[in-house]
Amino acid sequence: MSRLRLPPLPTVRDIIQMYGLKAEKQLSQNFLFDLNLTDKIVRQAGNLKGSYVCEVGPGPGGITRSILNAGAKHVIVIEKDSRFLPSLQLLSEASDGRVTIQLGDVLKYNMKKVFPNRLSKDWSDEPPNAHIIGNLPFSVSTPLIIQWLAAVANRTSVFSHGRVQLTLTFQKEVAERLSAGVGDPQRSRLSIMAQYLCHVEHCFNIPGSAFVPKPDVDVGVVHFTPRIEPLIHCPFKLVEKVVRSVFHFRRKYCRRGIEILFPYDHQDFVDEVLEVTGIDPSTTPQWLTIDDFSRISEVYMSICERYPAIRTYDYR
Ligand code: SAM
Repeated sequence: MSRLRLPPLPTVRDIIQMYGLKAEKQLSQNFLFDLNLTDKIVRQAGNLKGSYVCEVGPGPGGITRSILNAGAKHVIVIEKDSRFLPSLQLLSEASDGRVTIQLGDVLKYNMKKVFPNRLSKDWSDEPPNAHIIGNLPFSVSTPLIIQWLAAVANRTSVFSHGRVQLTLTFQKEVAERLSAGVGDPQRSRLSIMAQYLCHVEHCFNIPGSAFVPKPDVDVGVVHFTPRIEPLIHCPFKLVEKVVRSVFHFRRKYCRRGIEILFPYDHQDFVDEVLEVTGIDPSTTPQWLTIDDFSRISEVYMSICERYPAIRTYDYR
């Protein structure tokens, strides 16, 4: 029976010094040394006792320690920078092999094989006892969440195991956008894309000063639980196109954004969308509900079925 809590270890700060791990600006590396803070991030994931956790971008392993101390049965870490291997190996040894290290780029990693198949649950069941946690550079976390939302929609990649929950950090403004409700000035494309597929909770913010070196921005921790039923029943790519177009003119009436879904000489389709959905054309995008986006997507999809060339029409 392996120990659940780690034995006494050199601090993460000491590890950085011992192995000469200077943060690489190019990889946007900012480390968390405060174990109270890494514990707080990990608590947002829920009860990790006996769970499998995939941690993306562990760096020197501050969050990894908190995941292990929370009682995770196994942690798979995916790290791009091989300089962190010795510090991660130290954690693997100290935890009786509860850490598996995968060196590589998480954006290209095949997440389907990250958890054993025996953990898989049906989509309509409770989420499986498998979690993704990570404090990645913002240049990686934003494209990654879009990639993962597409996988939630299609139930592929890591979501072939069921409704795997995610606890991730973002630039504070992105965290606000992800969770913004109707009428919130931060309401944007990301709000709709995330919330139609997941329950999204912006848990708390971490001041930039808590990181070493200090980034120019503050950080928000966001928790995602995939919904059993998405709030929009159209293909992900189609929804993305509709939402991107409508938010293209953030401060204008939504009619303007709907117009760019169609060629200039097909404004009759815009009238059709507004008539069938009953949406007031003078509403600004931030005031549209997810149900409004659902109805716009449905009508747009039916027009695309009648006139397939519309689907590939690109305003740009
Ligand atoms: N999680 C650690 C912490 O909180 O102290 C390190 C955070 S640092 C902001 C981001 C980490 O992600 C770095 O270790 C960096 O090397 C790693 N990383 C950056 N891009 C990555 C990618 N595409 N795939 C995997 N790891 C990546």
